[in-house]
Amino acid sequence: MKHINLNNLLSENLLILPKEVRLGVVSLPSGLSFSDKIEKIKKQNKHANMKFTFSNPSYSGKADKFEWANSAIIFTYDYKQNKHNSNLSSNGFGKIAAFAEQDYYEPLKKITSEFENLFSRLNYKFHTFIDNPNHYDRTFFEISGLGWQGKSTMMLSPGIGPWQLLGTMYSDQHFEPTESKNYSCGECNLCQISCPTGALDEDYILDSNKCLSYWLQSPETIPYDIRTALGNRFYGCDECLISCPPGQNKNITISKINPHDVDLEKIIISTNEDLLEKYNWFYIPKRNANYLKRNAIIALSNNPNHKTYKFYLEIYKILPDDLKNYILWGFWKLGKINEINSLMDKENSHDLKLEYEKLKSMTS
Ligand code: SF4
Ligand code: SF4
Repeated sequence: MKHINLNNLLSENLLILPKEVRLGVVSLPSGLSFSDKIEKIKKQNKHANMKFTFSNPSYSGKADKFEWANSAIIFTYDYKQNKHNSNLSSNGFGKIAAFAEQDYYEPLKKITSEFENLFSRLNYKFHTFIDNPNHYDRTFFEISGLGWQGKSTMMLSPGIGPWQLLGTMYSDQHFEPTESKNYSCGECNLCQISCPTGALDEDYILDSNKCLSYWLQSPETIPYDIRTALGNRFYGCDECLISCPPGQNKNITISKINPHDVDLEKIIISTNEDLLEKYNWFYIPKRNANYLKRNAIIALSNNPNHKTYKFYLEIYKILPDDLKNYILWGFWKLGKINEINSLMDKENSHDLKLEYEKLKSMTS
């Protein structure tokens, strides 16, 4: 059977790939399945009750999903393009992880939609998965030669490291497969050393129960030790990516002013509607922006400025109880828990009074 060369097809049809996008191709059926692996992580509760691809592992982890499909095209989008800001920030400001600085799935979706338009014109059958719980997006990455899975569980490519997003398109056409390669992390374990909470202690397994990125997207009450470990992270954690040698480069901008850092006070006093609109690409549990305000209170308590104590005294009264709970912890973090008796005298909530007593006992 004559296979179609995908690059030739693209140039014949004047479809030009942006330099941030790379392609891999796999012939199907592949015989691959990741269902057991996903199921095992779920059984060990290392997914920390996250849904996404864990909702239905027998389908999401299945590589050969469609009987009609003869090829899978794997798209990668390099969202950093060798531009990195240093990890510094000013007091009162919080950090957004690089993958969430803006909706980087948008440019990836733009290029896959160009493929869809072309394939429709040519009467090819196709099905695309991008950021979709029905498909484990790493399924074909390694055998397509694009790179390898690192001990951080991220997918790595030479010169790009882990700073990439993935998409998959199934097609009924027989495309020439790309050559698989033999990459590995070797003896490196820098991501494991760099993880602040030991979430990567087991090679190639992420324990989401310990992962800071997971906690910032969780609706659960965040434990005290995790709150401290979060530092000034507002959304996501980059530690295991920054430490990864294949993704490092010389173009780091050292500055305390990072355009993607957030003014944490402003987040806490914003309306929920404004926050949901401003960060519409974030995963926010139940689309309840109070979870973003919670993240901001923790980050501000870990990275306060000279106004934070006064700010907390002013806003405590107007916040809902679930956020007051975190402000109390913030008073404790600022070393002020014994100075707010008059504020607590006016508090009617039994649960908040109990929380206050508990935090006071932690200072003695
Ligand atoms: S995202 Fe952060 S907390 Fe999670 S595994 Fe990576 S370094 Fe650890
Ligand atoms: S830091 Fe080292 S061990 Fe971890 S994923 Fe990157 S190359 Fe692999």
